[in-house]
Amino acid sequence: MKAGVIYGKGDLRIEEKPKPVAGPGQMVVEIKYVGICGTDMEFFRDGGFPPFMKVPLTLGHENCGTVVEVGEGVERFKVGDRVLCGPPSHCAEDCSPCKEGRTNICIHGFPRTAGLGQLDGGYAPYLLVNDVEHTMIVPVPDDVDFKDAVLFDVICVALHGVRISNFKFGDDVVVSGTGPIGLSAIQILKAAGANRVIALGTTSSKEPLIKSYGADYFINSKECENLGDEIKKILGSDVGADVVYECAGNMTSMANCVYECVKPGGQVAVVGTIQQPMDNLVPGRFSISEPNFQFTFTYTERDVQIYLNMVKAGKLSFPNMVTEIVSLDDAVEKGFKNRKPGSIKILIDPSL
Ligand SMILES: [Zn+2]
Ligand SMILES: [Zn+2]
Repeated sequence: MKAGVIYGKGDLRIEEKPKPVAGPGQMVVEIKYVGICGTDMEFFRDGGFPPFMKVPLTLGHENCGTVVEVGEGVERFKVGDRVLCGPPSHCAEDCSPCKEGRTNICIHGFPRTAGLGQLDGGYAPYLLVNDVEHTMIVPVPDDVDFKDAVLFDVICVALHGVRISNFKFGDDVVVSGTGPIGLSAIQILKAAGANRVIALGTTSSKEPLIKSYGADYFINSKECENLGDEIKKILGSDVGADVVYECAGNMTSMANCVYECVKPGGQVAVVGTIQQPMDNLVPGRFSISEPNFQFTFTYTERDVQIYLNMVKAGKLSFPNMVTEIVSLDDAVEKGFKNRKPGSIKILIDPSL
């Protein structure tokens, strides 16, 4: 079978690999769609692989499809089940965070994550689930389209971030960043009863899309001369927002959130993964307003179930988030090297 294998910075190859076979405790999923994640794009653009990652590696950690083979001892799933496969949900060692149900911060998780750690991911027609018992595999209801289901990795990052933040019904919020995670956060906050949602982004042409996701206001943070004043003006208040969500994953956005957007005593929820040093933040400049920080990371199986249930019930929907579906052969060109301007989420359909 064909597989998309990353070798290094700028080096993603489509090559032949043997089709996997399920051993004891394993199963094989025929991939319907696999998402091209921002993390995959960072690997391609910057190299900079984490120490737990084996390279070369077949990418793809946002996988969904149908079970086509189950190995000996696998009882939770059968051939024909529609599933999505996320990061490991519970480590074999049953570490302390896992015991508390906080599997997203499992101390053993990452090396065992397909497409990110040591195991091949889903940029291929078939994915081997190496350890069914300890991998996050969530059944996809029949009436949920795979195209919606496969967005779990993006949407559940935002959903988890909102769920563990201090957000309460009626709060005024700012979402900084209007990529897939920021857009998801906007819609989730609107569905959760936010009073006013102010989106900060750097691409004004996205304003109609951002508003279609539920933002009440859009500010171009690059062009706005005094962000703090603009937010207070919108809110009709002498202070900023109750909760501010950093979803852009960079320190310019983080500094905006801390210095310009959050009210004294409010919360900054850091949903984006920021890989830059925090040297533009001077704690003495903001400690006087006692902000609270909540860093958030990925999601749990519960978050994924909530997402699927709410999509099924029509309470959440993410139209126009998938901007293109490409074949494996076209994935490097269309998904990495020459992405169309304005593209948000690109999926690979290995059957094309
Ligand atoms: Zn991802
Ligand atoms: Zn664990």
